Amino acid sequence: MPRAVIDAIAEKIVSKISPDAAPTIVWHAGEPTVVPLKWYEYAHPRLRAAAPQGATFSIQSNGIAISDEWLNFLRDTGTRIGLSIDGPERFHDARRKTRSGRGTWSLVMNSLRRLQSSGFDPSVISVLHPQCLVAADQFYEFYRDNQITQVSFSIDEAEGANSTSSFDRHDYKAEMVHFLYQILSRAFTEKYPLHIREIERISRALAGQDDVRNEQVQAWQAVVVSASGDVTSFSPEFMELNSPPHNNFCFGNILEDEFEDLIQGKLVKAVQAEIRRGVDICRASCRYFEACGGGAPSNKLSENRSLASGETSFCRLSIQTAADALIQFLSDQIRDSPERGSGLGPGLHVDTHALFTSPLSSGTVQRA
Ligand code: SF4
Repeated sequence: MPRAVIDAIAEKIVSKISPDAAPTIVWHAGEPTVVPLKWYEYAHPRLRAAAPQGATFSIQSNGIAISDEWLNFLRDTGTRIGLSIDGPERFHDARRKTRSGRGTWSLVMNSLRRLQSSGFDPSVISVLHPQCLVAADQFYEFYRDNQITQVSFSIDEAEGANSTSSFDRHDYKAEMVHFLYQILSRAFTEKYPLHIREIERISRALAGQDDVRNEQVQAWQAVVVSASGDVTSFSPEFMELNSPPHNNFCFGNILEDEFEDLIQGKLVKAVQAEIRRGVDICRASCRYFEACGGGAPSNKLSENRSLASGETSFCRLSIQTAADALIQFLSDQIRDSPERGSGLGPGLHVDTHALFTSPLSSGTVQRA
């Protein structure tokens, strides 16, 4: 990404964010650490100076090239790091390999240990395939034994260049619920502080602590800028999707356009209207709507060929399963120890019935 693009992002986007906001600026797509650190030593201070006080920076990496210089940069700039580790060695190495065909697990685990011994607590994203779903205990023990406390699961999804998914052959929803439930139960029983991002998002929604904010269905909640300055919004994956009727979701270019003009663009308004129709379909038909907010437009387009559509395999396996696993877990806690409420805190009452009886109901967790 040329410095001119960074300058334009700083001046035309970041400097216009409300001073009270707390945006997250993420380096992602491809492997960010293949770009020389010198480039970040220009880009970070440029954006930091333009951003609100509460802004945070993060980077998602395969962890292979985390040098001492990178450690210093992450520490000095307060940049958070997430590593892509697909669980235990045999699962990770089955798909993540170097150009010479060697698995990369030992390389990324080496980076994990160096980061941890330097005081970082990296989050981990694990991409799951069907074979993983019978190995919940191995996954849990892997996270526990390596002091990994923040995990997010991605499923191998059909999206963009990836036209098929290993989950296509069968409905794996029940297996996925069991996988999440088992990890949640083991962590709870052993009091291991494992934060599973998908579960925590649903639990916050159920507890009413967070509006169900689905930033992917509202224009400009997320702004994505490519190396050439092209700008998109809604799903970050739009940057890689080929859709001629939507101009491949390129809403303008930050080198040429003012952000105020991008906001008024006809294309972005047309895409917003299609996405809203999809959200309306979800609202009318899906009992998980209150915990989801209408899903990921990029998955709807990739799977259903339309933004104005409802359920996808992706949402069945990622959003619905997280809700089901959490509800099953909470129900079991209440059943097994009614005198202790849910076991999650004094006086917690969990109305699990509400989530499943009406498309329009909101599951509630109330303080009694
Ligand atoms: S879970 Fe799927 S069908 Fe339900 S609201 Fe979300 S995207 Fe729509």
